Amino acid sequence: MKVGIMGGTFDPVHIGHMLAAEAALEGCALDEVWFMPSHIPPHKHAAGASGKQRLQMVERAIGTNPAFRTLDIELERGGVSYTIETIRALQERYGEHEFFFIIGADMVNSLTEWHGIEELAQRLTFVGVGRPGSVIDKTKMPAYLQPRVQLVNMPQVDISSTDIRERLQNGQTIRYMVHDHVYEYIKGSGIYEADTR
Ligand code: ATP
Ligand code: MG
Repeated sequence: MKVGIMGGTFDPVHIGHMLAAEAALEGCALDEVWFMPSHIPPHKHAAGASGKQRLQMVERAIGTNPAFRTLDIELERGGVSYTIETIRALQERYGEHEFFFIIGADMVNSLTEWHGIEELAQRLTFVGVGRPGSVIDKTKMPAYLQPRVQLVNMPQVDISSTDIRERLQNGQTIRYMVHDHVYEYIKGSGIYEADTR
């Protein structure tokens, strides 16, 4: 099976993530995409929502789509989530699958800084999707990386989880920026709401 891994903080998951996964599914003829919330990303502050909440929001966004599923391997492992450790574990467990790692343009441009990137690039293919604010320039990548990054087109959406959290803090709408079921979850649980203490 050809499996795409959609890694991220998903704090919260939004339609940019879903469109990226769908574009990779079609563009690289993947069989499935596994959404994998990270525990503590190496370069990020602590998340606003808990790991369990982030996973639950992703489950709601996926709904009944048979091509999408969740993967809690990084949440289970805990600590800092290094993709290289994750892919080693996945290939041990699912030796028969070919893995692809889906990333937005901002991530594509920072690939050379990833922990263990040279080994990672041997173990999987990166699928890069466009994202407003970042231009992907493959010619700027080191030679070993260029053939390991496949680019696919997606409808560009200028949405980030940071923007969504800020909008909620300011009492602005996020409707249709996230799946309806995610919207209801956020509204019902009160996560991300302005701190009234
Ligand atoms: P934050 O603002 O908290 O960093 P984010 O919106 O960037 O959140 P992440 O969970 O950091 O979301 O991203 C997970 C993956 O999805 C990354 O590879 C990122 O580049 C990609 N991604 C996120 N938003 C978009 C978008 N609007 N278009 C394309 N790719 C996106
Ligand atoms: Mg991000």
